[in-house]
Amino acid sequence: MKSTEEEILEGLSSQGGTAVKRIFMKKGTTLVATKHVILTFNTTKLSSTVKAGYIYCKTRLYIPNPIRCFKCQRFGHSKTACRGRLTCCKCASVDHLTSDCQSAELLCANCKQPHSADSKDCPQWKKEKKIQEVRTQQNLSYYEAKKLLFPEQNSMSYSNALKSSTSQPSQTDERLTKVIVPPLIKLTPVKPNVLRVKKCFYERKLQQNHLTNSAAQSKSKAFSKC
Ligand SMILES: [Zn+2]
Ligand SMILES: [Zn+2]
Ligand SMILES: [Zn+2]
Repeated sequence: MKSTEEEILEGLSSQGGTAVKRIFMKKGTTLVATKHVILTFNTTKLSSTVKAGYIYCKTRLYIPNPIRCFKCQRFGHSKTACRGRLTCCKCASVDHLTSDCQSAELLCANCKQPHSADSKDCPQWKKEKKIQEVRTQQNLSYYEAKKLLFPEQNSMSYSNALKSSTSQPSQTDERLTKVIVPPLIKLTPVKPNVLRVKKCFYERKLQQNHLTNSAAQSKSKAFSKC
């Protein structure tokens, strides 16, 4: 898929798409575009596929990665909002930058185990990821999901919770979490469903599977152009 984000969004606007963001991977020092895109829809019901041109793309719920502060290494806020001390990501020392680290031993600033603070093996990272998962699946705020999963650790003061609740931590582009979606049902707050397109299937293959009526109609229209 070589289409730009704008082109994809244009194609998805009739399906309720409100935002498109392509996922990039770091290869050395350069960022390489992947085939995966994050889509935001203005609906609470997730569709298992989206139509992109003549192709149906399979979708799955996008679970954002937890946000980790690059300054103090703690989870739940970014460097720009940090009030903590500068801490080395590799050895948890507060005396030097991560880039200047000379330590042979790894020590996580969050869990005190022998790995760097950016390790996906970190139990704290796994816990934060679980919060993101529950938050996304159940349309909750970060703090609602945290309270649900770890009620005993919810000792944050009310003022802090209130302050932080305006920015729900995630590692994704801020534009995504800030998308405002008009509620479909009155009195029910609606948050955008964010999907990640995983794999594309050609229409013919999908024909044997599951098509909604409306999708089938547009599909036949598309076939007539072939
Ligand atoms: Zn911080
Ligand atoms: Zn260090
Ligand atoms: Zn750790």
